[in-house]
Amino acid sequence: MNTNDIKAIKQLLSTPKNIVIVPHKNPDGDAIGSTLGLYHYLKKLNHNARVITPNDYPDFLKWPPGEETILKYDTQTEECNTLISNADIIFTLDFNAFHRTGKMAPSLESSDAIKILIDHHQEPDDYATYIYSDVNMSSTCEMVYHFIDMLDDTDKIDEDIATCLYLGIMTDTGSFRFLSTTSTTHRIVAELIDKGVKNADVHNNVYDTNSYNRLQLLGCALTNLKVLPELRTAYITLSQNELQKFDYKKGDTEGIVNYALSLNNIVFAAIFIEDRQEGIIKISFRSKGNFSVNEFSRAHFNGGGHNNAAGGRSEVSLNETIEKFISILPSYKDPLNNE
Ligand code: 5GP
Ligand code: MN
Repeated sequence: MNTNDIKAIKQLLSTPKNIVIVPHKNPDGDAIGSTLGLYHYLKKLNHNARVITPNDYPDFLKWPPGEETILKYDTQTEECNTLISNADIIFTLDFNAFHRTGKMAPSLESSDAIKILIDHHQEPDDYATYIYSDVNMSSTCEMVYHFIDMLDDTDKIDEDIATCLYLGIMTDTGSFRFLSTTSTTHRIVAELIDKGVKNADVHNNVYDTNSYNRLQLLGCALTNLKVLPELRTAYITLSQNELQKFDYKKGDTEGIVNYALSLNNIVFAAIFIEDRQEGIIKISFRSKGNFSVNEFSRAHFNGGGHNNAAGGRSEVSLNETIEKFISILPSYKDPLNNE
């Protein structure tokens, strides 16, 4: 984002506007944290702002300040469409291609609002008037902090804004341990704590609210874990029946793939989750080092994301999906073993 863009955005935000803020479908901690953090900031500037998520999100994200004001497009479509068509500005956060918003995409596409993209995923589409894209950033929340800083407004960051931004930095960095965590990330996090974030509470709200069933489901997933040592790959499957057996709730499978990646000598991990309702297998890929799961998923599983964390999907059965995965892997033997 250049200085002219900053100037133009400053000018744009100098008078009250109707603003809609949108994250990707199935929003995660960074999506919820960044949209709500920006929401609180824009409210402070006297804008008429609202966060609209494409769909619902897990209970462990239903506590940040302002969360109760979020509208969900799939169940509140009419109200959302009115807000979108009246919007002067639409911020799209933590994604960079309209299709990532699912059923919401057509109304975003047809809106003539000024669009501002803030995101850290690879290969952004060219739909926005102003683009702040940086794939080296730990999280969109960290970018919202920099965005507020570029507007010379860090003094406006209060406990609510700080708590939301802390949430997304924490979840997207795996609690400050992934490669994307820089000294700047830590400086920002320190400042957010100074602004009043109760950091232990944020962690507790997100990670220490497991249900018994969720832990049993984790046990099932770990039982299903398969390892391909010669390809330094490990993968997990969860069928719809298994999900049902443990009374699956949205968010219950979050993070399970990381157990596969935690194995000694493994650099590539995947989890395949059957979703009969949508008729797809939802896939999460994770890697260590230079093996790009973004490229792997784009090439074979209709998805994408970051170098070390990406999502994808498959429209054939769970077994056929695994067969396809296993048949592709040998062609990556060299890069996987050069890690
Ligand atoms: P997850 O495996 O947790 O669903 O996603 C991992 C990362 O990849 C997240 O940053 C997520 O936003 C991104 N991602 C997930 N699915 C897709 C997809 O279909 N396309 C793209 N471009 N990114 C995705
Ligand atoms: Mn993110």
